[in-house]
Amino acid sequence: MKLEAGRLNLWVFGPGIGEFVVVHVPPDGWLSIDGCSADAQEWPLKFFRDQVGVAPTHILMTHPHADHARGIRALVEHFTPHGRVTWPRLGVVAPPRRKGDSGASQDAFDSRLANGVLTAVKTRWRRQPASKWTPRAGQREPLGSGEVLTLSPAKEALNQAGEQSFDWNRVATALAVEWSGHRVVLGADLVEKPGKGWSAVLGRAPVVRKHVILKVAHHGSLEAQHEALLKRLAGEDAVTLVTTPFASQDLPRFGRSDGADLLLKHSDKLLLSGLPQAFETQNRRPRQWRRSRLALQRKPIAPDEPVGDFPSNYVHLVLSAAGKVKANYGPGSVIVHRG
Ligand SMILES: [Zn+2]
Repeated sequence: MKLEAGRLNLWVFGPGIGEFVVVHVPPDGWLSIDGCSADAQEWPLKFFRDQVGVAPTHILMTHPHADHARGIRALVEHFTPHGRVTWPRLGVVAPPRRKGDSGASQDAFDSRLANGVLTAVKTRWRRQPASKWTPRAGQREPLGSGEVLTLSPAKEALNQAGEQSFDWNRVATALAVEWSGHRVVLGADLVEKPGKGWSAVLGRAPVVRKHVILKVAHHGSLEAQHEALLKRLAGEDAVTLVTTPFASQDLPRFGRSDGADLLLKHSDKLLLSGLPQAFETQNRRPRQWRRSRLALQRKPIAPDEPVGDFPSNYVHLVLSAAGKVKANYGPGSVIVHRG
Protein backbone atom coordinates (compact mmCIF):
# COMPACT_ATOMS: atom_id res chain seq x y z
CA MET A 1 0.00 0.00 0.00
CA LYS A 2 2.98 2.27 0.61
CA LEU A 3 3.72 5.07 -1.82
CA GLU A 4 6.92 4.53 -3.80
CA ALA A 5 8.27 8.05 -4.16
CA GLY A 6 9.77 9.26 -7.43
CA ARG A 7 7.65 6.82 -9.44
CA LEU A 8 4.21 6.78 -10.90
CA ASN A 9 1.95 4.88 -8.50
CA LEU A 10 -1.39 3.49 -9.59
CA TRP A 11 -3.86 1.89 -7.21
CA VAL A 12 -6.92 0.11 -8.56
CA PHE A 13 -9.50 -0.76 -5.88
CA GLY A 14 -12.58 -2.87 -6.49
CA PRO A 15 -14.20 -4.89 -3.71
CA GLY A 16 -16.86 -6.44 -5.98
CA ILE A 17 -18.94 -3.38 -6.47
CA GLY A 18 -17.61 0.00 -7.54
CA GLU A 19 -14.22 1.06 -8.76
CA PHE A 20 -11.77 3.49 -7.21
CA VAL A 21 -8.54 4.41 -8.97
CA VAL A 22 -5.73 6.63 -7.68
CA VAL A 23 -2.80 7.89 -9.73
CA HIS A 24 0.18 9.60 -8.15
CA VAL A 25 2.55 11.36 -10.52
CA PRO A 26 5.72 12.68 -8.86
CA PRO A 27 6.27 14.95 -7.19
CA ASP A 28 2.82 16.11 -6.13
CA GLY A 29 0.10 15.02 -8.55
CA TRP A 30 -2.74 13.02 -6.98
CA LEU A 31 -5.67 12.06 -9.19
CA SER A 32 -8.67 10.36 -7.57
CA ILE A 33 -11.03 8.62 -9.98
CA ASP A 34 -14.51 7.37 -9.06
CA GLY A 35 -15.13 5.54 -5.79
CA CYS A 36 -16.33 2.44 -4.04
CA SER A 37 -17.46 1.27 -0.65
CA ALA A 38 -17.61 -1.99 1.25
CA ASP A 39 -18.69 -2.89 4.74
CA ALA A 40 -20.44 0.50 4.98
CA GLN A 41 -17.10 2.27 4.57
CA GLU A 42 -16.38 4.62 1.70
CA TRP A 43 -12.88 4.04 0.47
CA PRO A 44 -11.78 7.31 -1.22
CA LEU A 45 -11.63 9.31 2.01
CA LYS A 46 -10.07 6.38 3.86
CA PHE A 47 -7.31 6.32 1.27
CA PHE A 48 -6.49 10.02 1.13
CA ARG A 49 -7.13 11.08 4.71
CA ASP A 50 -6.19 7.94 6.62
CA GLN A 51 -3.65 6.12 4.44
CA VAL A 52 -1.52 8.59 2.50
CA GLY A 53 -2.46 11.76 4.35
CA VAL A 54 -2.44 14.06 1.33
CA ALA A 55 -5.12 16.06 -0.46
CA PRO A 56 -5.93 14.96 -4.00
CA THR A 57 -5.07 17.55 -6.65
CA HIS A 58 -7.81 16.16 -8.91
CA ILE A 59 -11.11 14.41 -8.17
CA LEU A 60 -13.02 12.91 -11.09
CA MET A 61 -16.32 11.07 -11.52
CA THR A 62 -15.91 9.38 -14.90
CA HIS A 63 -19.62 8.74 -15.44
CA PRO A 64 -22.74 8.97 -13.31
CA HIS A 65 -23.34 5.35 -12.36
CA ALA A 66 -24.08 4.53 -8.74
CA ASP A 67 -21.38 1.87 -8.40
CA HIS A 68 -18.65 4.36 -9.35
CA ALA A 69 -20.06 7.29 -7.34
CA ARG A 70 -19.60 5.86 -3.86
CA GLY A 71 -17.57 8.05 -1.56
CA ILE A 72 -16.80 10.82 -4.05
CA ARG A 73 -19.06 13.34 -2.35
CA ALA A 74 -17.44 12.82 1.06
CA LEU A 75 -14.01 13.21 -0.54
CA VAL A 76 -15.02 16.45 -2.26
CA GLU A 77 -16.55 17.84 0.93
CA HIS A 78 -13.52 16.96 3.04
CA PHE A 79 -10.96 18.54 0.73
CA THR A 80 -12.78 21.77 -0.12
CA PRO A 81 -12.95 23.49 3.27
CA HIS A 82 -13.51 27.20 3.62
CA GLY A 83 -10.21 28.96 3.88
CA ARG A 84 -8.16 26.48 1.90
CA VAL A 85 -6.58 28.53 -0.84
CA THR A 86 -6.53 25.92 -3.54
CA TRP A 87 -9.14 23.23 -3.96
CA PRO A 88 -8.62 20.13 -6.04
CA ARG A 89 -9.71 20.29 -9.64
CA LEU A 90 -13.18 18.73 -9.68
CA GLY A 91 -14.22 16.86 -12.82
CA VAL A 92 -17.56 15.36 -13.81
CA VAL A 93 -19.28 14.43 -17.04
CA ALA A 94 -21.99 17.05 -16.78
CA PRO A 95 -25.08 16.69 -18.92
CA PRO A 96 -25.14 19.24 -21.73
CA ARG A 97 -27.30 22.31 -21.23
CA ARG A 98 -30.33 22.20 -23.50
CA LYS A 99 -32.56 24.91 -24.81
CA GLY A 100 -35.29 25.65 -22.30
CA ASP A 101 -33.34 23.88 -19.60
CA SER A 102 -34.25 25.60 -16.35
CA GLY A 103 -31.30 24.21 -14.50
CA ALA A 104 -33.23 21.09 -13.58
CA SER A 105 -30.47 19.13 -15.27
CA GLN A 106 -29.16 18.44 -11.79
CA ASP A 107 -31.63 15.58 -11.75
CA ALA A 108 -30.37 14.30 -15.06
CA PHE A 109 -28.69 11.22 -13.70
CA ASP A 110 -30.76 8.26 -12.68
CA SER A 111 -28.52 7.60 -9.71
CA ARG A 112 -29.16 9.51 -6.49
CA LEU A 113 -25.52 9.14 -5.51
CA ALA A 114 -24.27 10.52 -8.80
CA ASN A 115 -26.69 13.44 -8.57
CA GLY A 116 -25.33 14.18 -5.12
CA VAL A 117 -21.78 14.34 -6.51
CA LEU A 118 -22.89 16.56 -9.39
CA THR A 119 -24.63 18.99 -7.03
CA ALA A 120 -21.65 19.13 -4.67
CA VAL A 121 -19.23 19.70 -7.55
CA LYS A 122 -21.32 22.37 -9.28
CA THR A 123 -21.70 24.29 -6.03
CA ARG A 124 -17.92 24.37 -5.68
CA TRP A 125 -17.38 25.33 -9.31
CA ARG A 126 -19.43 28.44 -8.59
CA ARG A 127 -17.55 29.26 -5.40
CA GLN A 128 -14.08 28.64 -6.82
CA PRO A 129 -14.16 28.67 -10.64
CA ALA A 130 -10.55 27.45 -10.82
CA SER A 131 -11.76 24.10 -9.49
CA LYS A 132 -13.85 23.52 -12.62
CA TRP A 133 -12.66 20.66 -14.79
CA THR A 134 -14.78 19.36 -17.66
CA PRO A 135 -12.59 16.81 -19.44
CA ARG A 136 -13.15 16.64 -23.19
CA ALA A 137 -11.28 14.57 -25.76
CA GLY A 138 -7.99 16.18 -26.67
CA GLN A 139 -7.67 18.31 -23.54
CA ARG A 140 -4.48 18.20 -21.53
CA GLU A 141 -4.23 18.78 -17.82
CA PRO A 142 -1.02 18.98 -15.80
CA LEU A 143 -0.60 16.30 -13.13
CA GLY A 144 2.60 16.54 -11.10
CA SER A 145 5.49 16.39 -13.56
CA GLY A 146 3.24 14.62 -16.06
CA GLU A 147 0.06 15.30 -17.98
CA VAL A 148 -3.40 13.84 -18.31
CA LEU A 149 -4.73 13.62 -21.85
CA THR A 150 -8.49 13.13 -22.08
CA LEU A 151 -9.33 10.39 -24.61
CA SER A 152 -13.12 10.45 -24.16
CA PRO A 153 -15.78 11.86 -24.24
CA ALA A 154 -15.76 14.05 -27.31
CA LYS A 155 -18.17 16.97 -27.32
CA GLU A 156 -20.32 15.42 -30.08
CA ALA A 157 -20.81 12.21 -28.10
CA LEU A 158 -22.01 14.21 -25.10
CA ASN A 159 -24.73 15.89 -27.14
CA GLN A 160 -26.69 12.65 -27.16
CA ALA A 161 -26.24 12.13 -23.46
CA GLY A 162 -29.24 12.43 -21.21
CA GLU A 163 -31.74 11.18 -23.78
CA GLN A 164 -34.00 8.50 -22.43
CA SER A 165 -32.33 5.23 -21.56
CA PHE A 166 -28.99 6.66 -22.60
CA ASP A 167 -26.12 4.45 -21.50
CA TRP A 168 -23.65 6.74 -19.71
CA ASN A 169 -20.89 4.21 -20.28
CA ARG A 170 -20.82 5.54 -23.85
CA VAL A 171 -19.40 8.85 -22.65
CA ALA A 172 -17.34 7.66 -19.71
CA THR A 173 -14.18 9.70 -19.19
CA ALA A 174 -11.18 7.71 -20.43
CA LEU A 175 -7.75 9.20 -19.78
CA ALA A 176 -4.13 8.68 -20.69
CA VAL A 177 -1.65 9.70 -18.01
CA GLU A 178 1.68 10.56 -19.59
CA TRP A 179 4.85 10.64 -17.57
CA SER A 180 8.52 10.19 -18.40
CA GLY A 181 7.69 9.16 -21.99
CA HIS A 182 5.26 6.45 -20.89
CA ARG A 183 1.53 6.21 -21.00
CA VAL A 184 -0.98 4.70 -18.60
CA VAL A 185 -4.44 4.34 -20.15
CA LEU A 186 -7.39 4.48 -17.77
CA GLY A 187 -10.43 3.12 -19.59
CA ALA A 188 -13.11 3.87 -16.97
CA ASP A 189 -16.32 2.18 -18.18
CA LEU A 190 -16.05 3.41 -21.76
CA VAL A 191 -17.68 0.80 -23.99
CA GLU A 192 -17.22 -0.01 -27.66
CA LYS A 193 -20.77 -1.37 -27.96
CA PRO A 194 -23.01 0.56 -28.09
CA GLY A 195 -21.65 3.87 -29.24
CA LYS A 196 -18.25 2.87 -30.66
CA GLY A 197 -16.50 4.76 -27.90
CA TRP A 198 -13.09 3.19 -28.44
CA SER A 199 -13.26 3.41 -32.24
CA ALA A 200 -13.68 7.15 -31.78
CA VAL A 201 -10.70 7.27 -29.40
CA LEU A 202 -8.51 5.35 -31.84
CA GLY A 203 -9.65 7.62 -34.67
CA ARG A 204 -8.41 10.69 -32.86
CA ALA A 205 -5.26 9.39 -31.21
CA PRO A 206 -2.31 10.16 -33.43
CA VAL A 207 0.18 10.24 -30.57
CA VAL A 208 2.22 7.09 -30.31
CA ARG A 209 3.91 6.69 -26.99
CA LYS A 210 4.86 3.69 -25.00
CA HIS A 211 1.74 2.31 -23.33
CA VAL A 212 2.75 0.36 -20.30
CA ILE A 213 -0.44 -0.08 -18.31
CA LEU A 214 -4.09 -0.37 -19.31
CA LYS A 215 -6.85 -0.13 -16.71
CA VAL A 216 -9.18 -2.25 -18.78
CA ALA A 217 -12.53 -0.62 -19.45
CA HIS A 218 -15.79 -1.66 -17.87
CA HIS A 219 -14.61 -4.50 -15.65
CA GLY A 220 -13.28 -6.44 -18.64
CA SER A 221 -16.66 -6.86 -20.35
CA LEU A 222 -16.50 -8.04 -23.96
CA GLU A 223 -18.64 -5.08 -25.06
CA ALA A 224 -16.09 -2.60 -23.77
CA GLN A 225 -13.11 -4.02 -25.65
CA HIS A 226 -11.73 -2.97 -29.00
CA GLU A 227 -9.36 -5.48 -30.49
CA ALA A 228 -7.38 -2.84 -32.40
CA LEU A 229 -6.64 -1.01 -29.15
CA LEU A 230 -5.42 -4.21 -27.51
CA LYS A 231 -3.33 -5.07 -30.56
CA ARG A 232 -1.80 -1.62 -30.56
CA LEU A 233 -0.88 -1.94 -26.90
CA ALA A 234 0.46 -5.47 -27.13
CA GLY A 235 2.36 -4.54 -30.28
CA GLU A 236 4.60 -2.33 -28.20
CA ASP A 237 6.34 -3.69 -25.15
CA ALA A 238 4.44 -5.88 -22.74
CA VAL A 239 1.39 -4.11 -21.41
CA THR A 240 0.09 -4.69 -17.90
CA LEU A 241 -3.67 -5.25 -17.87
CA VAL A 242 -5.53 -4.50 -14.66
CA THR A 243 -9.22 -4.16 -13.85
CA THR A 244 -11.89 -4.49 -11.17
CA PRO A 245 -14.71 -7.02 -10.91
CA PHE A 246 -18.42 -6.17 -10.98
CA ALA A 247 -20.10 -8.96 -9.04
CA SER A 248 -23.76 -8.31 -9.85
CA GLN A 249 -23.05 -8.30 -13.59
CA ASP A 250 -20.64 -11.21 -13.29
CA LEU A 251 -17.75 -9.27 -14.85
CA PRO A 252 -15.26 -10.09 -16.09
CA ARG A 253 -16.45 -13.35 -17.63
CA PHE A 254 -13.95 -16.12 -18.15
CA GLY A 255 -15.58 -18.34 -20.80
CA ARG A 256 -13.98 -18.96 -24.16
CA SER A 257 -14.29 -15.90 -26.45
CA ASP A 258 -15.56 -13.77 -23.59
CA GLY A 259 -13.87 -10.69 -22.10
CA ALA A 260 -11.02 -12.24 -20.11
CA ASP A 261 -10.20 -14.65 -22.96
CA LEU A 262 -9.92 -11.77 -25.44
CA LEU A 263 -7.72 -9.78 -23.07
CA LEU A 264 -5.46 -12.76 -22.45
CA LYS A 265 -4.76 -13.04 -26.17
CA HIS A 266 -2.83 -9.80 -25.79
CA SER A 267 -1.11 -10.31 -22.45
CA ASP A 268 -0.17 -13.43 -20.54
CA LYS A 269 -1.96 -12.29 -17.42
CA LEU A 270 -4.84 -10.16 -16.25
CA LEU A 271 -4.68 -8.54 -12.82
CA LEU A 272 -7.93 -8.24 -10.91
CA SER A 273 -8.52 -6.42 -7.65
CA GLY A 274 -10.88 -9.24 -6.65
CA LEU A 275 -13.13 -11.98 -7.95
CA PRO A 276 -16.53 -11.12 -9.45
CA GLN A 277 -18.35 -12.08 -6.27
CA ALA A 278 -19.57 -10.33 -3.13
CA PHE A 279 -17.12 -8.50 -0.87
CA GLU A 280 -17.98 -10.86 2.02
CA THR A 281 -16.60 -13.77 0.01
CA GLN A 282 -13.37 -12.15 -1.17
CA ASN A 283 -10.13 -13.61 0.08
CA ARG A 284 -7.59 -12.10 2.42
CA ARG A 285 -4.62 -13.21 0.38
CA PRO A 286 -3.73 -12.72 -3.30
CA ARG A 287 -4.46 -15.80 -5.42
CA GLN A 288 -3.76 -17.05 -8.94
CA TRP A 289 -5.96 -18.99 -11.34
CA ARG A 290 -6.01 -20.11 -14.92
CA ARG A 291 -8.77 -18.56 -16.98
CA SER A 292 -10.16 -21.98 -17.98
CA ARG A 293 -10.43 -22.94 -14.31
CA LEU A 294 -12.41 -19.81 -13.47
CA ALA A 295 -14.63 -20.45 -16.51
CA LEU A 296 -15.76 -23.73 -14.92
CA GLN A 297 -16.66 -22.07 -11.64
CA ARG A 298 -20.41 -21.99 -10.98
CA LYS A 299 -20.51 -20.85 -7.37
CA PRO A 300 -18.48 -18.17 -5.58
CA ILE A 301 -15.03 -19.40 -4.68
CA ALA A 302 -14.82 -19.75 -0.92
CA PRO A 303 -12.11 -17.68 0.74
CA ASP A 304 -9.21 -19.41 2.49
CA GLU A 305 -9.35 -16.62 5.01
CA PRO A 306 -12.14 -14.12 5.48
CA VAL A 307 -11.79 -10.71 3.93
CA GLY A 308 -10.11 -7.97 5.91
CA ASP A 309 -10.87 -4.31 6.36
CA PHE A 310 -9.79 -1.53 4.08
CA PRO A 311 -7.33 -1.56 2.39
CA SER A 312 -8.16 -4.77 0.60
CA ASN A 313 -9.07 -5.77 -2.93
CA TYR A 314 -6.52 -3.69 -4.73
CA VAL A 315 -3.64 -3.94 -7.13
CA HIS A 316 -0.87 -1.36 -6.75
CA LEU A 317 1.29 -0.81 -9.84
CA VAL A 318 4.53 1.13 -9.68
CA LEU A 319 6.05 2.54 -12.86
CA SER A 320 9.69 3.65 -12.89
CA ALA A 321 10.95 6.48 -15.07
CA ALA A 322 12.67 3.83 -17.21
CA GLY A 323 9.29 2.19 -17.91
CA LYS A 324 9.52 -0.85 -15.64
CA VAL A 325 6.27 -1.91 -14.01
CA LYS A 326 6.15 -3.62 -10.64
CA ALA A 327 2.96 -5.00 -9.09
CA ASN A 328 2.08 -5.17 -5.41
CA TYR A 329 -0.91 -7.39 -4.78
CA GLY A 330 -3.41 -6.43 -2.13
CA PRO A 331 -5.55 -8.82 -0.11
CA GLY A 332 -8.18 -10.46 -2.30
CA SER A 333 -6.48 -9.61 -5.57
CA VAL A 334 -6.27 -12.21 -8.32
CA ILE A 335 -3.85 -12.95 -11.13
CA VAL A 336 -5.61 -14.67 -14.01
CA HIS A 337 -3.27 -16.59 -16.31
CA ARG A 338 -3.79 -17.43 -19.93
CA GLY A 339 -4.93 -20.96 -20.78
ZN1 LIG B 1 -18.44 0.13 -13.61
